[in-house]
Amino acid sequence: MRKLSVFVLTFILSTILFAQNSNKPIIGISSSWGEGTSTSVSLTYIESVKLAGGIPLVIPIIQDNEMLKAILDRIDAVIMTGGEDIDPLKWYGEEPVNAMGGIAPERDSYDIALIRLAVERNMPVLGICRGHQIMNVAFGGTLYQDIPSQKAGSNLKHNQRAPGNYGTHSIKIIKGSQLNLQTGLDSVAVNSFHHQAVKDIAPGFIVTAVASDGIIEAIEKVGSTRVFGVQFHPEEFTAGGIDTFLGVFKHLVSEANAYRGIK
Ligand code: MN
Repeated sequence: MRKLSVFVLTFILSTILFAQNSNKPIIGISSSWGEGTSTSVSLTYIESVKLAGGIPLVIPIIQDNEMLKAILDRIDAVIMTGGEDIDPLKWYGEEPVNAMGGIAPERDSYDIALIRLAVERNMPVLGICRGHQIMNVAFGGTLYQDIPSQKAGSNLKHNQRAPGNYGTHSIKIIKGSQLNLQTGLDSVAVNSFHHQAVKDIAPGFIVTAVASDGIIEAIEKVGSTRVFGVQFHPEEFTAGGIDTFLGVFKHLVSEANAYRGIK
């Protein structure tokens, strides 16, 4: 009898938990690229989506727009992740400077196709670091290929050695912007792991946060509440037990629910 009631209770609980999970929106996460590998991403992205109430799903690198569309048909939002430098010649018409880092051409074309297809269908998109830069380049903006050698007057360390969940330089956040509304902050210390940055902002996008040297640290699509990018790594804080940027992921999940018509 006792065994039976434990069994029944377990069944009811797992049914409830399954129902809760099955009702959550699926947040696609863009893959990184390795020689002959795809779908590898830091667990911090996956953990942040979980903590915000979404189901994380890594999207493989595929050079096929029809297949990417079919994947997007089955998910509710996209996170564009951090990684390599972006090929300047191919994607914004600049010769590469000497201080450029490594590039991943297969990932560039996949990322650009994925974000264009997602934004085209008004799907929520969060760009992080390289993903934020990809957002800008995909819609006609340019980058500093290397901040120290190209941004006059910048002497701010954007490549910290401190832990990922520790903020090392401050940013000012524009009042009323998505980042302001998501975090409730108008200034904050962020982590910084980049040597490239948004230079000319893409048409149809605005700057929503800047560092003290003028480097752009956040952007968003004008007239949209669901397409935005950050140069720093909110997932490192969120997965690292610091809730300062949990609101960024919660907003993405809430927009993902709105996108698929669920309250
Ligand atoms: Mn920075």
